[in-house]
Order: sequence, then structure tokens, then C-alpha cells
Amino acid sequence: MAECIFCNIVEGRIPSAEILSDETAYAFLDINPLAEGHVLLIPRTHYETIDEMPGDEASRVMKHVPSLVKAVQAATDCDGVNVLQNNGRTAHQLIPHVHVHIIPRYEQDEFHFNWPAESYPEGRMEEVQNKIRKHF
Ligand code: AMP
Ligand code: ZN
Repeated sequence: MAECIFCNIVEGRIPSAEILSDETAYAFLDINPLAEGHVLLIPRTHYETIDEMPGDEASRVMKHVPSLVKAVQAATDCDGVNVLQNNGRTAHQLIPHVHVHIIPRYEQDEFHFNWPAESYPEGRMEEVQNKIRKHF
């Protein structure tokens, strides 16, 4: 038995509440939801973080996001939806198999982001822009 819990789910060795399934992707209900209808979308193939995925395979997984968001919205009548994808422990990734969270949100819910946004000092934004662009 594979050690990865999500590989075991994809292979049907661990039960899950399936939402959709195709040759590349699988979606199911999160077992400890932030709200009812919290869905996880995963690639069938094991990748730990999204940067490891070939772009075309990631596209074949991510193409399901709009219809999943639409279905979750319609089913739960939520006020909004967060689509979250965590990479690395620091970014709150606990399961090391790529997954996308689709999370129904409500006006008065208890799920809060601490989003300590800052501004760039003069000239720094262009430096960072160039640093990132260099890696494509
Ligand atoms: P993350 O913190 O981004 O790694 O999220 C992992 C998610 O996987 C959590 O929201 C867990 O509740 C969920 N999870 C863990 N085990 C299972 C399982 N067996 N079935 C469904 N969801 C699971
Ligand atoms: Zn896996």
C-alpha cells in the first residue's frame, strides 16, 4: 500500500466522498471541512508540490476549478468561495500530495486570513520583477 494518503484515496484503498473523477484528476470532500462542501481537487499522479507538475497536466487538473466552484456554490448557497493551494509546511501543506482546496465562505464565518500586506520601497518592485522573470 502506498504511503501517501491521497494516492490511496485515488486508488480506492481509502474511502472518500467522490465529487468528480477523470483520467487525470480526482475531487472529493475534505474529511475535516472548514465548511460543509469543502472540496479537494488532486492529480491522480503523485506530486508533492505544484511546481513539480508538468504545466499541461496541471492544466488538466485545474480546468475543473470553475465547475467545482460553481457546483459548490449552487449546493451550499455560500456567499463566496476561496480556492487555495498550499505548497510546503510553511504554507500550511500537511498532506504532501498536490491538492486544491475549494472552500465555501459565509459572511460571519470563523475562517480568517492574516494578510499583512506591505508596500515596496522605491525601486525594489522592479528588482523583484526581474529576479522572478529570469527563471522562465
Ligand atoms: P493541507 O493543510 O493543505 O495539506 O490540507 C490537507 C487537507 O486534507 C485537510 O483539509 C484535511 O482535512 C484533508 N484530509 C486529510 N485526510 C483526508 C481524508 N482521508 N479524506 C479527505 N480529506 C482528508
Ligand atoms: Zn500521493
